[in-house]
Amino acid sequence: MEGIETLKKWVEESNNIVFFGGAGVSTESGIPDFRSVDGLYNQKYDYPPETILSHTFFMRKTSEFYRFYKDKLLLEGAKPNKAHLKLAEWEAEGKLKAVITQNIDGLHQAAGSKEVMELHGSVQRNYCMQCGEFYDFEGIKEKLDEASKNGGELIPRCKCGGIIKPDVVLYEEGLDGRTMEKSVQYISNADVLIIAGTSLAVYPAAGLIDYYRGKKLVVINLQPTPRDKYANLCICGKVGEVLSQC
Ligand code: NAD
Repeated sequence: MEGIETLKKWVEESNNIVFFGGAGVSTESGIPDFRSVDGLYNQKYDYPPETILSHTFFMRKTSEFYRFYKDKLLLEGAKPNKAHLKLAEWEAEGKLKAVITQNIDGLHQAAGSKEVMELHGSVQRNYCMQCGEFYDFEGIKEKLDEASKNGGELIPRCKCGGIIKPDVVLYEEGLDGRTMEKSVQYISNADVLIIAGTSLAVYPAAGLIDYYRGKKLVVINLQPTPRDKYANLCICGKVGEVLSQC
């Protein structure tokens, strides 16, 4: 594949790589992205995913939110793929400083990555909106299963009766300030910045890459992105396949 030799050389020479990724990093683990032809935006729902995954929708139509969320984002059994594993390996070798991800699936940590900036939160953490009780992935799944057995609304409830909300950043909600600050630091100091598996359509996350000041900006994606023209290296391919060759 064109460009792989250059990427390999840049990776070999660097000990300050930063990775910025999106939903395309997890499609090889069987989790659908939003904007691919078979992504969630091209499937039919009563509302577009952007509406369902908004704060207003969550508050007003909680049960419908959870129907979508449980089917499409709370996926059991998804395993890290070659991309997640390679990034964890580079971090352990001291080559990679941080993974900055828009994903909420927790697969980078499952692969062994330690420094992971989760810009949009994680399905692994959930809190009761009333008493603040914490529920992990299994915990919220259990509460959703309980609710669906009761046959009524699909709303996970805490033992105090409050509604449980995932610790994911919904549309209309702000990103965590500290995570943004650390991401800016990592990107502005990076030697190699690898952007992969993202349409770069979701802001403010996508705007973070403007902080990069180096000359080794790599984009690995299946479809063109708005930043291809600024990249020093563009590779059209699957991120897992590409990284595993480096
Ligand atoms: P997106 O769906 O807008 O874009 C994904 C991009 O990745 C597309 O351009 C597609 O061509 C490309 N792609 C798909 N598979 C690929 C592969 N194997 N290798 C290389 N490229 C591949 O995703 P986005 O930019 O991350 O924005 C969607 C938002 O939705 C994000 O904010 C994210 O939080 C959320 N989301 C997360 C997950 C997850 O956690 N796994 C899944 C769906 C959506």
